[in-house]
Amino acid sequence: MNTKKFLLPESELPTHWYNVVADLPNRPLPPLNPQTKEPITPQELEAILPPELIKQELSTERYIEIPEPVREKYRIYRPSPLIRAFELEKALKTDCKIYYKYEGQSPSGSHKPNTAIAQAYFNKIAGTRKITTETGAGQWGTALSYACAQFDIECEVYMVRVSYDQKPYRKILMNTFGATVYPSPSERTQSGRNFLKQNPQTNGTLGMAISEAIEMAVQSEDTKYSLGSVLNHTLLHQTIIGQEALKQMDLAQDYPDVVIAPLGGGSNFAGLAFPFLRENLTQKKNTRFVAVEPASCPKLTQGKFMYDFGDTQGFTPLLPMYTLGHNFEPSAIHAGGLRYHGASVLCSQLLRDQLIEAKAVDQIECFEAGTLFAKTEGIIPAPESNHAIAQVLREVQNARLEGQSKTILFNLSGHGFVDMMAYSDYQNGKLSTHTLDPKTLETSLAEIQALQPPALV
Ligand SMILES: *Cc1c(COP(=O)(O)O)cnc(C)c1O
Repeated sequence: MNTKKFLLPESELPTHWYNVVADLPNRPLPPLNPQTKEPITPQELEAILPPELIKQELSTERYIEIPEPVREKYRIYRPSPLIRAFELEKALKTDCKIYYKYEGQSPSGSHKPNTAIAQAYFNKIAGTRKITTETGAGQWGTALSYACAQFDIECEVYMVRVSYDQKPYRKILMNTFGATVYPSPSERTQSGRNFLKQNPQTNGTLGMAISEAIEMAVQSEDTKYSLGSVLNHTLLHQTIIGQEALKQMDLAQDYPDVVIAPLGGGSNFAGLAFPFLRENLTQKKNTRFVAVEPASCPKLTQGKFMYDFGDTQGFTPLLPMYTLGHNFEPSAIHAGGLRYHGASVLCSQLLRDQLIEAKAVDQIECFEAGTLFAKTEGIIPAPESNHAIAQVLREVQNARLEGQSKTILFNLSGHGFVDMMAYSDYQNGKLSTHTLDPKTLETSLAEIQALQPPALV
């Protein structure tokens, strides 16, 4: 009998997150204070983050224990299943073995509660009364709304306007969990009013929404800000995915030749990949890691490694990362979770050191792949996850050309039940191919040249 699902009992839930910083051949450059261009101090983060998250953000310890109250919430939906995609394999007539880790069974339908729960918990024990945040497609906002409800914290969400309009059900989900949701840019903040003045018709971006959320958070002592991706601690919390997947690949008596995940800021990619990367770095394993981004927002494949702000207004520290420039406005693609101008510092460093690879895929190829997956495996993937599936199909094709059979593991980071308009647009031929105008990119990268510290220029 061919086992399809590799399930772990709750008692096998990993007890620690894995911090890849401990095993990196090259530590990332430090985040900088934009005024002084000096490395930021923990104190400078206190206005927006609670102490435990600041500690994790800067930690170099290999393993960080998951507090029992967080594990208790994780057990509502974790360990998540690892599934062998037999039906997809059959449809592709391939010898490759395809496995996926399914993160869509969480309360909000994606991997995001893995860090939302942890962040809400560390805020709760620090006495935070309210958390502000941004959301793109609404996955992060939903996850944080749910987590805040679990720990009785108020939640205020700035939602990128184009998604607010494209995905009304996401707003209702967040409201159901008790959060307040505003389309961003909004009139509520100084930064929002600035963005609207510059361009009243703007679609909004994650960068703008982050600025609004931070501006609200720094105004009161008991309000903190929470980011759904990019920062080290968000990647850390997601490693629960890969820690489980390692055990599950063991159950399957198999091991991946290639690990694939979509990349917006890098959290679900890191979550699945980093524990396997540890095996490369410490156990001489030889897995490839492929991060997949949209062709319309290709920071890893067409961006530059530079210091840049994480938000549009310039409230965050300067981060050393692959970026398209914080003023870059990606087209209004449906994979809202991937419309971010930069990639996390850790993923950027790994790409620089060629320990991971990056690919860009157009949205039509993504929806073709996602539709095949839905027909064969029965799960309708989130538009973001379709990027990983498109790359899986490319890997299968390459393996065929090379006459090889490969073991492929990818992250099905979420389901697409609240993204039906995206599928409808695809089916009705309303999606267009978006590429990047080199002039636009050149301009937005030129705008951040002045931010570089002397040593990097
Ligand atoms: C947010 C999101 C992503 C992208 O964010 P990362 O931080 O790069 O993981 C991918 N897939 C889904 C389903 C998402 O909600």
